[in-house]
Amino acid sequence: MGWSKGDKVVELRQGRRRELVLGESLAFGGAGEVFGVEGSGSVCVKLMDAPTASRQGKICELLAKHEQGRVRDSDATWPRGLVVSGPDDAVVGYTMDRVRGRSLSEVAADPSADFAQRTRCALSLCQVVSRLHGTQHTSVEDRMVVGDLDLANAMLDSRTGQVKLIDTDGMQVVSTAGGRRLAYPTSELRTCSPETVGKRTGTYLLTSRHDWFLVAICVSRLLMPGDPLYREPAPGTDPREDRERVVGERLYPYEEHCAEWGLPAPRQVMGAELADLLRQSLTAPWDQIPSTTVYAEALGRLATKGVRTCPTCGGTWSAGALEACPYCSATHPFGTTASWATTRVLAAPAAAGGVVPATAAATRVVPATAAATRLRPATAAAGGVVPAPVAATRVRPVPATATRLRPAPVTAPRAATPPAQGLGGAAAAVAATGDKDANAAKAADRRRLVDLVALVALIACVALLAVCAVWVRGRIW
Ligand SMILES: [Zn+2]
Repeated sequence: MGWSKGDKVVELRQGRRRELVLGESLAFGGAGEVFGVEGSGSVCVKLMDAPTASRQGKICELLAKHEQGRVRDSDATWPRGLVVSGPDDAVVGYTMDRVRGRSLSEVAADPSADFAQRTRCALSLCQVVSRLHGTQHTSVEDRMVVGDLDLANAMLDSRTGQVKLIDTDGMQVVSTAGGRRLAYPTSELRTCSPETVGKRTGTYLLTSRHDWFLVAICVSRLLMPGDPLYREPAPGTDPREDRERVVGERLYPYEEHCAEWGLPAPRQVMGAELADLLRQSLTAPWDQIPSTTVYAEALGRLATKGVRTCPTCGGTWSAGALEACPYCSATHPFGTTASWATTRVLAAPAAAGGVVPATAAATRVVPATAAATRLRPATAAAGGVVPAPVAATRVRPVPATATRLRPAPVTAPRAATPPAQGLGGAAAAVAATGDKDANAAKAADRRRLVDLVALVALIACVALLAVCAVWVRGRIW
């Protein structure tokens, strides 16, 4: 049934019943809708679209894990109580903590998020996933696979500054309760891995390696401009099938084409260690790809002593990648007008449940002006940074409901921007960048007005001079 604000549901939690009144709808996703709760800012309710026996079972299993302390509160929004409805108390959803903050896809799309912050986010994400996978001593039923591991499913908790996963009911859970081994597969996948190519989601069990692969994609999407797997699909090719081909054939289009696209090489952005790890994740034989723990160690080294801050402009970058500040140096390979932060090109959200549409029409361009002014206030005025034309970068905000299903409409990026990078994102990220686009447009309007006033003043001055000249001539002759 469809739920809406004001509806009443019953929460069953540790043997107690509590009536809850649904508040505003907060999000759609993971095969359900999330609502706030009237009178409570710290709890929210997820109600499933189709509460099948498998989904109900998985929620009960996650709830048990949480109650037994086998998962950490800070790692994800675990179910806290069952939400039941109807005369037979059918499980229709669950209650969970409400996270305040923004998704990592918003961080990735934010030109003002600097390299240091991106590194901390990537590290925190790896640490969470590593804990969920457990160690070799962890029992099988305690090892979870995130499955739909995507920047849109990871929140940067503003209270703790750490990453917290959402949509936990989509994860892969194994249970051995009651002497029976039950497996609840991942129920939704928006990005494929070599393990999932050509298979139907929910019909098989994933290994941790699947998450390792997707973690590598998430890390590179946080630290590098665009999507490492993007390539221009051949005309007439389904972008989703093309993506599966790239993943299945273990290709790494970004590294191959970044020079011709005018984008920095991976090691110029992340440093050699992470660049090598990323290449292994994408191209090495499947049983030799680096684990999330290896990424966490490398990112830990980067975060503690590998990030340098420029004393002139305040920009941050990987010291292992570059000697000089990429935002101040005129001779730098990033170029003066196109640092990695200012040319970040992102695509609209993936089609529902699917892989990533990486067509040119699906690309989103974050206006270069915001980042350029932030990073180089002095040189911007002196003409050092040429803001990209507004017409080329303005992106219309997209209604939240539409973004899950369709790529955002967008004006095609022109000359000043590098080739499109396709990747998945969140509706929220689209909304956030939409606001920024609107601000950039307003700023451009203001600039045009100032230019007009200056022109009128100039014409008035010339006219006045002419009148004076005529008057002086008249007096002399
Ligand atoms: Zn600098």
